[in-house]
Amino acid sequence: MERSLKVRPIENGTVIDHIARGKALNVYKVLNIGEENTVTIAMYVPSKKYGKKDILKIEGIELSEEDVNKIGLISPNATINIIKNGSVVKKFKVKIPDVITGILKCTNPNCITNVERVPGKFKVEKKDPLKIRCIYCEKFLNTIEIAR
Ligand SMILES: [Zn+2]
Repeated sequence: MERSLKVRPIENGTVIDHIARGKALNVYKVLNIGEENTVTIAMYVPSKKYGKKDILKIEGIELSEEDVNKIGLISPNATINIIKNGSVVKKFKVKIPDVITGILKCTNPNCITNVERVPGKFKVEKKDPLKIRCIYCEKFLNTIEIAR
């Protein structure tokens, strides 16, 4: 018998396609994936549109709107495919929201959100390249760190 490491298609879950090359693990880290979710990560897959892309397949997960926003911040061209009973029931492109609540942390240590530990709120001033400004202290974030 031929031995193979065939990747089985997922029955119910989510396929995140067109992730920017090398970013699949970043996406993986911000999602709440547990041991009950079988995960397949494909990196540097040839893509007609983007040269190379990453793909993440997660069995048994449904993404929240917040998850989709997080993915958008990491990889603005990613597409989400929702799989039910082996077929794609919904397909959409991630979008970067104009206002981001929570999920990010202000990089200004003197910002009220860090001093008083209030959830951050941010305005997306520019999407490509990403420029995000804190609504409280009005400083631009110098690094974009996404909370899990
Ligand atoms: Zn701030």
